[in-house]
Amino acid sequence: MEEDNQSFFWIKSEGQNKLATENMVPGNQVYKEKLIIKKNIEYRLWDPFRSKLAAAVMNDLDYFPFENKSTVLYLGASTGTTVSHISDIVGPSGIVYGVEHASRVARDFLDRVATYRKNIVPILQDARKPKEYFSVFGKVDVVYVDIAQPDQTQIAIDNCEMFLKKGGYFFLVIKTRSIDVTKAPKRIVEEEIEKLKPRFDVLQTIDLHPYDKDHAMVVSKYNH
Ligand code: SAM
Repeated sequence: MEEDNQSFFWIKSEGQNKLATENMVPGNQVYKEKLIIKKNIEYRLWDPFRSKLAAAVMNDLDYFPFENKSTVLYLGASTGTTVSHISDIVGPSGIVYGVEHASRVARDFLDRVATYRKNIVPILQDARKPKEYFSVFGKVDVVYVDIAQPDQTQIAIDNCEMFLKKGGYFFLVIKTRSIDVTKAPKRIVEEEIEKLKPRFDVLQTIDLHPYDKDHAMVVSKYNH
């Protein structure tokens, strides 16, 4: 993916074209990322070493369904690094529901990110209990899951069944070591993909190396 597609941009910085999103909250930084103004528009550099979605774009992600006005359910918001860039992309008419259960990181997510970005709905809940997300209305365009749990594929499927629209996209980050330390990473990814096959058309699997060790991103489409 080399073209600007209006969702993200390639901005020249220190002699290189770097990935960036248009800052929805000009002047506001989330993780000390560089801000660059070009033709009166402020961009935030999007660091692939800090965000696995950015790493996937760098490694030739073929599908990018995050657009202006998209609705996204994001499991494992953490301190909000990636969520903040998706917030830039979906803009004021889109919504990012960010689910996070650990209060320590959720506080940073709330204080540094969600407070400034009105299109983020923070949900401080366990992703294993999607019935308790009272603030999600209707179905979303994309479900993104990065929770590093051994049973995360099943958790993700349960969330998709409740909240993903038919034909919607599902992004699953697989931290291969967290699932089973005794199995080879490639086999782990293949086994997780098998679990998706009854309900999803698997479109692409991306190794996030060198930006992220031991992670893969699986992109699929919900066919239910
Ligand atoms: N996606 C983040 C980013 O790119 O900025 C990083 C996510 S981090 C690898 C995983 C996060 O998932 C942690 O913050 C952890 O607390 C959260 N998490 C793990 N299990 C969870 C669960 N059952 N429900 C909600 N959040 C969970």
